[in-house]
Amino acid sequence: LDENIAKAEGYLARFKADGVLNHIGGESVAAADDSTFEIISPVDLKPLAKVARGKAEDVDRAAMAAKAAFADWAAMPGDARKKLLHKIADAIVARAEEIAFVECMDTGQSLKFMAKAALRGAENFRFFADKAPEARDGKVLRTSDQANMTTRTPIGPVGVITPWNTPFMLSTWKIAPALAAGCTVVHKPAEFSPLTARLLIEIAEEAGLPKGVWNLVNGLGEEAGKALTEHPAIKAIGFVGESRTGSMIMRQGADTLKRVHFELGGKNPVVVFADADLERAADAAVFMIYSLNGERCTSSSRLLVEESVYDAFTAKVAEKAKRIKVGHPLDPETVVGPLIHPVHEKKVLEYIDIGRDEGATVAAGGAKFDGPGGGCYVSPTLFTGANNKMRIAQEEIFGPVLTAIPFKDEAEALSLANDVQYGLTGYVWTSDVTRAFRFSDRLEAGMIWVNSENVRHLPTPFGGVKSSGVGRDGGDWSFDFYMETKNVAFAT
Ligand code: NAD
Repeated sequence: LDENIAKAEGYLARFKADGVLNHIGGESVAAADDSTFEIISPVDLKPLAKVARGKAEDVDRAAMAAKAAFADWAAMPGDARKKLLHKIADAIVARAEEIAFVECMDTGQSLKFMAKAALRGAENFRFFADKAPEARDGKVLRTSDQANMTTRTPIGPVGVITPWNTPFMLSTWKIAPALAAGCTVVHKPAEFSPLTARLLIEIAEEAGLPKGVWNLVNGLGEEAGKALTEHPAIKAIGFVGESRTGSMIMRQGADTLKRVHFELGGKNPVVVFADADLERAADAAVFMIYSLNGERCTSSSRLLVEESVYDAFTAKVAEKAKRIKVGHPLDPETVVGPLIHPVHEKKVLEYIDIGRDEGATVAAGGAKFDGPGGGCYVSPTLFTGANNKMRIAQEEIFGPVLTAIPFKDEAEALSLANDVQYGLTGYVWTSDVTRAFRFSDRLEAGMIWVNSENVRHLPTPFGGVKSSGVGRDGGDWSFDFYMETKNVAFAT
């Protein structure tokens, strides 16, 4: 651990010394009015860096740079874009340790997961690099006297707005397809954890990405974020964050008729039937809520368990939760690190109080954890004896807090699972294939895993229903979002 901390200090020194600048048209620049905001590490609450606080003027410059770079980038052959995006992936791999260490100190996420997240970022680039040559492909639709040819063209400069939970991985997931499609980008990362976004744009330009194709404006959501969503040169906004921010962005983008794609919050159920492989289901339920500190949109924050096995199953989960290693994010053994920020820690601890006040039982955790550095640690928490009306069963807590609710039969399980405003993911555990199919078919969620935790296959669609999102990405769905489809009808 000491060695890792020393390494991290080395990687962070430049941010402490020079701060975090914006990057516009290939130049690193301060905010136009020179203003900054300070970020702290959730590990010890000490300052990490002063970050440029971009405003409308900075966003305007970035949008104009993206607009100026668009024609050449869009005209570049798909094969050339493919090569360049692979180079970016190679460069990410070469700096994967630095990315992971910086991410851990900036977000509190543990190295166990961030080491993989950095490499997944490279994988995202490779996946969309390989698809770049086919991005424009369309269809031919014939009638007796017409041949209709559909083609796709990049929509123009786009805005990407990302949250704080796993910023590096998520930024690559949104930006790589935009570049592969031929769009230029203005990225506004989350104000709590902006460091790896800065590394990413440097990596991309060092790998040969032309200036202005990708621009970075740091700042607050209500300032830089809002200005980006309102800018007339920005044709679409790819947004990942809270549902209520999604509503704001939809309003802000209305005047310029912005195309939007939203990946929002969740209150995802893991549904365990008595006939399931209960040991594997328990491991998966624990993994899906406590990995990534529970600060994960796809986390299974509601555990719905068939009555006959409810007590035994929740006892198993409680026992596993108590054994989870909470600690310094750079300790290779740590699973749960400190939460992102004292403001968020307070919110999560308040929900734990709310759960107690509502009458649920704390079967594991339930308190702040006194971790190394004195940061924002919260013990992995399990509530039992809960019901679906409770706020801890309805609202997104976005921390290591799981709410377990019993159900009598399949019909009740389905009604509990669907009785929330969200619908991002669902996890179904049963050995009855017919039931698995029937249940998944009726479950209101964009993505469902049967007898598995969340294992992503990149060509599949990613996104949610109800308050969990608008639109899909992944595979060709990302190109549909970042591109316009045109039909040309030829008389024959
Ligand atoms: P947030 O909505 O507070 O912020 C996300 C981003 O939006 C930040 O960059 C912020 O600065 C910006 N923003 C805030 N107000 C804005 C405005 N008015 N206009 C434009 N931009 C604005 O979300 P967060 O707290 O950073 O992240 C946690 C949330 O993200 C959770 O709800 C989580 O479920 C969600 N999330 C969803 C997915 C998914 O794929 N569905 C993935 C990760 C996180």
